[in-house]
Amino acid sequence: MIRKTVLHWFRQDLRLKDNPALMAAEGQCLLPVFIQEEEMPDLYRPGSASNVWLHHSLQSLNQSLQGNMSLYKGNLLTILQSLVEQFDIDTVTWNACYDPWRQEQDKIIQEALEGRGVTVHVPEGSTLWDPRRAVKGDGSPYKVFTPFYKNAVQTHIRQSLEAPRFQEILQDSSALSLDELGLLPEKRWGARMMEAWDPGEAGAQAALEHFLSKGLDGYKEGRNYPAKRHASRLSPHLHFGEISPNQAWQAALQHREPDENTYCFLSEIGWREFSHSLLYHFPEMVTENLQKKFDAFPWVTDKKALDAWKQGQTGYPIVDAGMRELWQTGYMHNRVRMIVGSFLVKNLLIHWQEGAQWFWDCLVDADMANNTASWQWIAGCGADAAPYFRIFNPVTQGQKFDPEGTYIKKYVPELADLPLKYLYAPWEAPHLLLRGAGVIIGETYPSPVVDLKLSRARALDAFHTLKANA
Ligand code: FAD
Repeated sequence: MIRKTVLHWFRQDLRLKDNPALMAAEGQCLLPVFIQEEEMPDLYRPGSASNVWLHHSLQSLNQSLQGNMSLYKGNLLTILQSLVEQFDIDTVTWNACYDPWRQEQDKIIQEALEGRGVTVHVPEGSTLWDPRRAVKGDGSPYKVFTPFYKNAVQTHIRQSLEAPRFQEILQDSSALSLDELGLLPEKRWGARMMEAWDPGEAGAQAALEHFLSKGLDGYKEGRNYPAKRHASRLSPHLHFGEISPNQAWQAALQHREPDENTYCFLSEIGWREFSHSLLYHFPEMVTENLQKKFDAFPWVTDKKALDAWKQGQTGYPIVDAGMRELWQTGYMHNRVRMIVGSFLVKNLLIHWQEGAQWFWDCLVDADMANNTASWQWIAGCGADAAPYFRIFNPVTQGQKFDPEGTYIKKYVPELADLPLKYLYAPWEAPHLLLRGAGVIIGETYPSPVVDLKLSRARALDAFHTLKANA
């Protein structure tokens, strides 16, 4: 048998199982490669938390490949072309990704490699449904989730693939070390953040199994409560492709007789698909409102309030708990993401892009499609978005979704001794009671950065100017 050498270019598919592109190397010699792009637009450059995750994920993948990953930094095409020559490569493979900056670039790379007689294999591997094909009958993209999802679930979803076996795994001795990629920050922050996580394919499988055995029962209701552990916490694993949406989907369906919890989980995976489809069809949405009428929205610039929001010092305990969870763990529970998002764009009237950028830097699951679509959804300017006039009240949201105050007390410990009655609005507590709980409003815990009633009215006024201008 003629031995072929296959170069697999790992991108957001840092796994061996259910990796369609990697299957081309079954029984062949594999050169596994990761390249840190240096020429990508700043807007798309991974944030600090993502880089920390990537470091650990590459470390784990390298171990699974017996230490043979070849790592590079620089121009993608130059590096790939030189490896093709150096290792006499027959086939180059990667999984399709649909982020805007990759579209044109992938095409150029593919054409250049094929021009040199190399076979290029680019299957679908990061979404369940190829966004190029998950479109309406007339070929136009869906802008509403429900018909998108109803149509998509009727199409075939492949069974998960086993990891391929290779004849040999090659390594370039002149490649960079992981440390030379420079992904870790200088401060200890990254190490502390990672205490809550286990990046890599094995960690992703463990998270999935934990979710299936402990989280799935009661997921539909329980996923709304940040102090409960019903959410799967699969998002960073899915973003980096340590697990495919296919694997999560099939595992949930096969775990036991599917029920409302299973279908609710599948529909959340469906929201990920919808966001990726939106970004593919509307790449401009990263910087532009999907609903053009919002271009005239009177956002305000308020650095002090924005900083208070980023630092978890707004004076609203559920908002502050969420922002501190984000800073400490690189994650925030979905319900709380909605609360802090609404607070920023509605109560503070600050542009959704400020929030999206902060999340992009701090989230370990920062994902261009999910982050952009979710922020536009919260701001009311996205596809199938929450109406702008639906403004979350952070006090009642806290009371409803953190009824025992467990989540708030964990991340805002300076309020831990307050009775529940005042935990969600500490400024309303009697002076003596505050003193007894060791709280001094404005000193040990901030005064509210805005008044809820006034800021709500201001947001609605701003929204009405759009209607008047429409
Ligand atoms: P689970 O409830 O277990 O859901 C399973 C999976 O479904 C998730 O891992 C995720 O891949 C997908 N999913 C769930 N909810 C959504 C959603 N609303 N939109 C798209 N996909 C979803 N998610 C990201 O992955 N990256 C982001 O950068 C991101 N930014 C967000 C910003 C805002 C303002 C908001 C409101 C939401 C954002 N989300 C983002 C969506 C959602 O909050 C996270 O996917 C979810 O909290 C991840 O936790 P989990 O894996 O435990 O979720």
